Amino acid sequence: MRLADLTTIGLGGPARAFIRAGTDDELIDAVATADAGGEPVLILGGGSNLVIADAGFDGTVVQVATRGLARDGEPGTVTVAAGEDWDEVVARTLAEGLAGLECLSGIPGRAGATPIQNVGAYGQEVSQVITGVRVYDRLTKETLHLPNESCGFGYRTSMFKRDEAHRLIVLGVTFRLAVGPLSAPVRYPELAEALGVEVGDRVPGTEARSAVIQLRQRKGMVIDPADPDSRSVGSFFVNPVLDAAALAAVETAARARYGPEVRVPRFDAGDGLVKVPAAWLIERAGYGKGYGPSGGPSDGARISAKHTLALVNSGSASTAGLIALAREIRDGVSNTFGVSLTPEPVLIGVAL
Ligand SMILES: Cc1cc2nc3c(=O)[nH]c(=O)nc-3n(C[C@H](O)[C@H](O)[C@H](O)COP(=O)(O)OP(=O)(O)OC[C@H]3O[C@@H](n4cnc5c(N)ncnc54)[C@H](O)[C@@H]3O)c2cc1C
Repeated sequence: MRLADLTTIGLGGPARAFIRAGTDDELIDAVATADAGGEPVLILGGGSNLVIADAGFDGTVVQVATRGLARDGEPGTVTVAAGEDWDEVVARTLAEGLAGLECLSGIPGRAGATPIQNVGAYGQEVSQVITGVRVYDRLTKETLHLPNESCGFGYRTSMFKRDEAHRLIVLGVTFRLAVGPLSAPVRYPELAEALGVEVGDRVPGTEARSAVIQLRQRKGMVIDPADPDSRSVGSFFVNPVLDAAALAAVETAARARYGPEVRVPRFDAGDGLVKVPAAWLIERAGYGKGYGPSGGPSDGARISAKHTLALVNSGSASTAGLIALAREIRDGVSNTFGVSLTPEPVLIGVAL
């Protein structure tokens, strides 16, 4: 099985073995059997946040294909199997008059991966509405229910993502959504502007969904075979969170380069910290939309023509080439601003 065919960026060599698990029992059995034999395991959802080595994966890839969405318990509570397509989950909750996921429309992948990096966009994060995650623990071989506060959620991270041993397999996710046709208050200025409302206003959830999808399409952030800029893993770098000293250093470097008028954009990240858009740092370090040297080590990989933060496979790229481009950008930003960018996707068999 060629993993390039199962990743949205179209990269990755072969897997030694491949199992598609359609039920929780099949999923647990596949993982437990591999673990018992000392076989490395890679859990695959929609392959939209994975960069896999050209050499592939020397072990068993288990694709999560479980299905099911149930409204249970309290009104607004929805439990979703890990293998459900995420955007279909969002659409379905809105169709059932539930709000809280509308800004996460158009994000590719499966529901079970959403807690892994605490998927977020346009002012919403899944951690705001997840009440619990049902997991299989590969060490104890038990199935357990983790409440939200045990998941270690942070900005684009969780304890699942931080655990390099990938001990926990997500079987299902439970969300508590608001019952009613209106969206959660719109938090993101760009989205509020597109909707023609003020930040903090509510709009019909389905309108918020349409606006989000339109904004995302313009940035190549909705998978579309006809859009070569969507052959990516989404944002390649996480927006760095800086303390006052690091921000001051960025401001000094930016003024030295672009003059005293320049203002470094930032968003409050709490505790005296700010989030600075990685896209701004990348562009200002000299890597604009569409950048991608041909003929060099990164041949075939380039920055999206629509969104500076997405690295795309223009069709002929290799994983080695993508990583070479990512390194060049990371080093360029570090040399210019002293900020070390970290990759957002999970890297398998490669490192930056
Ligand atoms: C065009 C595009 C736009 C994107 N936009 C956004 C965005 O706006 N916001 C955002 O946060 N992300 C975004 N992403 C990234 C990605 O879509 C999300 O991270 C998504 O949740 C990944 O889901 P997946 O099923 O494809 O996971 P995969 O890529 O298959 O896996 C990602 C990681 O999760 C692990 N994993 C997957 N399923 C399970 C499971 N059931 N149990 C345990 N581990 C598991 C895998 O082993 C791997 O380590 C975007 C990606 C693309 C290509």
